[in-house]
Amino acid sequence: MTFVEHDVSRSLKVDGPVDYVLHLASPASPVDFERIPIKIIKVGTLGTHNMLGLALAKKARILLASTSEVYGDPLVHPQPETYFGNVNPVGIRGVYDESKRAAEAYVMAYHRQHGVDTRIVRIFNTYGPGMRADDGRAIPNFATQALRDEPITVYGDGSQTRSLTFVADEVDGILRLLASDVTEPVNIGSEFEHTMLELAEAVRAACGSQSPIEFRPLPQDDPRQRRPDLTRARTLLGWEPTTPLADGLIPTVQWFRTLVAAAPGA
Ligand code: UDP
Repeated sequence: MTFVEHDVSRSLKVDGPVDYVLHLASPASPVDFERIPIKIIKVGTLGTHNMLGLALAKKARILLASTSEVYGDPLVHPQPETYFGNVNPVGIRGVYDESKRAAEAYVMAYHRQHGVDTRIVRIFNTYGPGMRADDGRAIPNFATQALRDEPITVYGDGSQTRSLTFVADEVDGILRLLASDVTEPVNIGSEFEHTMLELAEAVRAACGSQSPIEFRPLPQDDPRQRRPDLTRARTLLGWEPTTPLADGLIPTVQWFRTLVAAAPGA
């Protein structure tokens, strides 16, 4: 196996045969939307273009990691793949949402014009061991705050919802899609929907922490609710998530415990 570190926003030459291109590269945390917006829009657009060029040249199957963010702040609930979404192109999240929407359009253009063998997965909120302590998303923040006995920061009144998928379930769904012949987008996510206040309480309990909950302002364009319609995943891939939040939080909290022990005050 060979590992090459490369920014896919720049063109990439690969020697030898390529069977699969999994285009998973992109910052995806809302804190990055303000920190590195240009990198995000470049990796979603130029990066996708480059990876499609690679797949075309190598006659490889390509899978694009798209996102539930293509639905924006959805007006349809739960979200089927046929829903076109409700996205603010000039808002803070626009760099991610719109570049992933453009990425899907790029994929379909290469599929239609060049016959490239394409897959599009729309990934919903996913968590598990391997996340960064400073990732900025809800579970990394709540877990590191709880383990450090710091206040847990819930944005808004915490009534907004997300459905949270354990990483092993998510990977299983993505691999099933890759192995299938389904070229239309497929939602891979969980139907276990929780408010962010419930999530904060669940993470605090899993950490055995007494941290207080502190309410902070809601970020701009923060989606009110999000949950996938899994009809396609079930009928076309025979896939559905199986890990309840309480079970997935056990190895996740263990992971963050190790990170926090290594850098207690970070
Ligand atoms: N959130 C929160 N506190 C945090 C981080 C996030 O209340 O410290 C909320 C955020 O406002 C959003 C939800 O948790 O409503 C999920 O945010 P995340 O950044 O994990 O992902 P998103 O689904 O927004 O991309």
